[in-house]
Amino acid sequence: MSRQLLQSQLSAPLPADPELVLVTDLDGTLLGGATEERRRFYRWLADQRERVLHVFSTGRDLSAIARVLQEDEPIGLAAPHLVIGDVGCTVACGSSLQPVPLAVDPIEERWQGTAERLLPLLEGQPGLTSQPLHSERRLAYYVDPDRFDHNLVPQLEAHGVDCLFSDNRYLDLLPAGVNKGSTLLALLEWLEIDHERVVTAGDTLNDLAMFETGLKGVMVGNAEPALVEHLPRLPSVYRARGEGCSGIAEGLHHFGFDHLWD
Ligand SMILES: [Mg+2]
Repeated sequence: MSRQLLQSQLSAPLPADPELVLVTDLDGTLLGGATEERRRFYRWLADQRERVLHVFSTGRDLSAIARVLQEDEPIGLAAPHLVIGDVGCTVACGSSLQPVPLAVDPIEERWQGTAERLLPLLEGQPGLTSQPLHSERRLAYYVDPDRFDHNLVPQLEAHGVDCLFSDNRYLDLLPAGVNKGSTLLALLEWLEIDHERVVTAGDTLNDLAMFETGLKGVMVGNAEPALVEHLPRLPSVYRARGEGCSGIAEGLHHFGFDHLWD
């Protein structure tokens, strides 16, 4: 029932019975690795469209996702089936990039009025530069961790947000409890997908919430050191040696999805 509802809000059909749901971060992950490796992986993904349900899971907003699809189309990057954008605050159809109300409306509701409460606290803070974004369910900054006053975090979080630092340069303020992991779990419930068939992949701290879901995960070889530190407590996560796309492919073999290469 919920799968039908989700499908009704998408402009392209999802694979009927996917053997794998592959959830990839973009920068440093699906967009990472040598160009030839990327080209090969994108070709494989395109060939597997009916067997692999592909989800982007990224900090980018929808316009920045549209941009990368256009820029990397020459090396074979194709639109996924679904998109999780804005670090979990947006869900959209992969082909049209139209937001999915089923997923977005509850997040929008939680965000109501939050920016208005937070902006006065953030105004003029050292080490913060606002990111040009088109989302309305998060605030995003470039952060200089050495200049930023970390005492501000509890004050901000008291207003019902989570402060998420990643890649040593990004700070996202997200509705409390909303992240790449929580949004993915909601999506899997609507899709009625067996969790055994799901593999996530990422490289920075904003991917940690996906790795904490207990789903199979691939931490690519170029992952940031602050993420790698969490590895010992993430038993379902495989640390790949390969960077970006080659790390994702390595992880899929590790998890026994070799048959998808037959
Ligand atoms: Mg990344």
